[in-house]
Amino acid sequence: MGLLNRRRETDGASPELDDARAETDRLRLELDRARSTLDGLPIGVVVVDADGAVVSRNRSASFGRGHSEVLISEAIDRQVRQALDGRESTAAVELFGPPKRVVQVRATPQADGGAYVVVEDISERARLDAVRTDFVANISHELKTPVGALAVLAEALSEETDLAVVHRLAGKMVDEAHRAATSIDDLLELSRIELGGSAVRDPVDVRQALREAVIRSLAAAEQRDIRIDLDEPVEPITVLGDRRQLVSAISNLIDNAVKYSEPGSDVYVSTTREQSRDHAWVGMQVRDRGIGIPAKDLDRIFERFYRVDRARSRDTGGTGLGLAIVRHVATNHEGDVQVTSIEGEGSTFTLRIPVAP
Ligand code: ADP
Repeated sequence: MGLLNRRRETDGASPELDDARAETDRLRLELDRARSTLDGLPIGVVVVDADGAVVSRNRSASFGRGHSEVLISEAIDRQVRQALDGRESTAAVELFGPPKRVVQVRATPQADGGAYVVVEDISERARLDAVRTDFVANISHELKTPVGALAVLAEALSEETDLAVVHRLAGKMVDEAHRAATSIDDLLELSRIELGGSAVRDPVDVRQALREAVIRSLAAAEQRDIRIDLDEPVEPITVLGDRRQLVSAISNLIDNAVKYSEPGSDVYVSTTREQSRDHAWVGMQVRDRGIGIPAKDLDRIFERFYRVDRARSRDTGGTGLGLAIVRHVATNHEGDVQVTSIEGEGSTFTLRIPVAP
């Protein structure tokens, strides 16, 4: 029936012509689809013929006359010239913004003598590369320092005959070995939390988690003559998540409060409740009256390896990973971690997690 109708429309034309028209329609449709797909891509694509004339460009490659866009267009021209000589070529264009961006321009020769160019914003990849390089450098430094110290101490020890000095050197070796072990433990914990993500969603009793975290930090607190005051919530509070991660985060906050307080002072652990439009939150709060954190450092203390004062943190045996762990745990639980602090007066850290519905 359909076929008969179509015959009537084309009225006397040959079946071959009908087929050719149908094929043209199909090709047009395919071309439209390819064009709209190219336009939808977040990367720019430019196609040039063998003379370097632009045959087509998608929406992401339609540049205006802004300074950055002119720099990208110039990079495209340079890479195209190389591709027309038969060489694939890539360049990274650094745009100083703001915001700062890195754009990659890659030109590839085509069989017909022309070329195509792909323009991609690789800012995030470049940032992650820099973070990874930093991370590796930091780990090497973190592990090399105590291992180097161990070697020096062992050498001194091997030539020492005075028993008192032998004891002192051996004590220092134990400290350095502990320092290396702590760094390794923290690194393993951080990578476990990063890799483990937010898969576990068990009901966790907040009171229980707080108690466990306090118990973990008791020995360190006793050593510095610091009292941990735990103010438990009256009613049970349940959150969904990974108990181990939550305990580890709270315990890191308590350990810091202990480390950065004067001997003889108190650390307070308590909870707060908050209700936003569609969420109930519990804040697990750790407050100290310690040395505090300068305002300029508050934004950065959650970065891996960041320390307000390297020398001071080294004395306290810090690795600079504790707060990075806390922030990861918060993110894994759709929560956050906040800090308020006044230098010389103390700090309050709050780990906020949504309460189980
Ligand atoms: P660290 O192992 O050095 O303690 P963290 O990641 O736990 O590393 O903390 C990063 C830095 O933030 C610390 O080096 C310290 O300078 C600062 N800091 C963290 N908690 C406190 C606190 N309660 N009081 C003062 N400074 C703190």
